[in-house]
Amino acid sequence: MTPYRAANLGFVLTFSVLVALATGCSVNPATGKRQLSLIPESQEIAMGKQYDQQASGSMGLYDDPELTAYVSDLGKELAATSERPSLPWTFRVVDDPTVNAFALPGGYIYVTRGILAHLESEAELAGVVGHEIGHVTARHSVNQISKQQLAGLATMGAMIAKPELQQFGGLAETGLGLMFLKFGRDDERQSDDLGLRYLQRSNYDPRPMADVMEMLQLVSAAGGSGRVPGWMSTHPAPANRRQRILDQVAGAGGGTVNRDRHLNAIDGMVFGLDPREGYFKEDRFLHPDLRFRFDLPGGWAQINQKTVVGAMAPEKDAIIQLTMAAGATPAEADRKFYEQEGITGGSGSSSRINGLPALTRPFTVTAEQGSLRGITAFISYGGNVYRLLAYAIAERFSGYEQAMSLSVRSFAELTDRRVLDVEPKRLKIVTLSRSRSPREMVGAYSATVTAETLALINHTGVDVKLPSGRRVKMVVGGELP
Ligand SMILES: [Zn+2]
Repeated sequence: MTPYRAANLGFVLTFSVLVALATGCSVNPATGKRQLSLIPESQEIAMGKQYDQQASGSMGLYDDPELTAYVSDLGKELAATSERPSLPWTFRVVDDPTVNAFALPGGYIYVTRGILAHLESEAELAGVVGHEIGHVTARHSVNQISKQQLAGLATMGAMIAKPELQQFGGLAETGLGLMFLKFGRDDERQSDDLGLRYLQRSNYDPRPMADVMEMLQLVSAAGGSGRVPGWMSTHPAPANRRQRILDQVAGAGGGTVNRDRHLNAIDGMVFGLDPREGYFKEDRFLHPDLRFRFDLPGGWAQINQKTVVGAMAPEKDAIIQLTMAAGATPAEADRKFYEQEGITGGSGSSSRINGLPALTRPFTVTAEQGSLRGITAFISYGGNVYRLLAYAIAERFSGYEQAMSLSVRSFAELTDRRVLDVEPKRLKIVTLSRSRSPREMVGAYSATVTAETLALINHTGVDVKLPSGRRVKMVVGGELP
């Protein structure tokens, strides 16, 4: 969870206007084919910029200028060889352990720290980034957005009216959901081809791209625990994708691989979920960086996103969520919240929650989809105002009221030193002093992940012995109290 950022849902309305005004036919720059184009390039760039703010804020960026420069330099080199070199190409590292990469219209490309940890060389990273550049140059993302937006416009319209309650419709339908476009299999093939083209023009060895395909398949099979969806869910694999790439690069030889440069760039990088940004220990949420804790009802589905933490009842008819609030004091934050149209607040009560200044208030919302009842609590702590929002379908509220109240009143300062000092797991590049398999490396280097994970990130088998002198990825530290 990070400080408050205003929900940016206005773009949906802007977009529908654009669609009405800008329908036309143009030549696709990467494929040379004529296609129905809903959006001119200047609008595509403006749209990408807006989406980028939302994506960066919601997913969170990994704070490491050197690592970001490594990805960005490589990305810009590839993009310069593309059919759209003059787009404002922007490359970002997303602070998430999931293995994925995303492309937004206008030239915004994101790679997760999760995928960086799973790649073995600069050539592999170039394969991933080149593929994403292909989605932009062939205008897949902008076309995809237009399709999804048109289909989703009716639903979103209802949500814009009450952005505060957008999660009522289900977590998948949040604004962030729009970032994770799913491409078609033809688009995937085309991006593979374009990616290979950019790799070869930049003199990278294209052959490792086939290894990347294999790794992505293995990672998807192993499942993940991040905050964003995995590669396979946003990039469906066309049949024989790996073989197709192998066939295309069969004649290609040599080119840059730069394994060491990649390993040096990711040495020390956070691995897995970062507990300093908050983690659940059973039904308690602990946030070491912001020094607070609070409890959620047992058995509820827990949500730990960058900007919102909470839980949803098993029946999906009640939710409790904690976010940062806009406003300097609980009273100001409370006033801003209840200024929203459609929300009717009851009488507020100022009291202390575990010694912290707080303002709580019951509320009702009457919408076309039905009525909601809930409570808000604005709590001042550590220079921030936190907002706890708990609500349920109106007729079920009484059954949840006590659990919600307990949860709200559990918000407190975090004082457990062991939790405050918790550290994330980190990648450590080590040189094998003797031949070892991932299974043997776990004990030899006090790894804090399983042999299977070590095998996966090192692109090898659990019992395959890697030679002495080889540099390998290890994961150390990060034990939770
Ligand atoms: Zn793709």
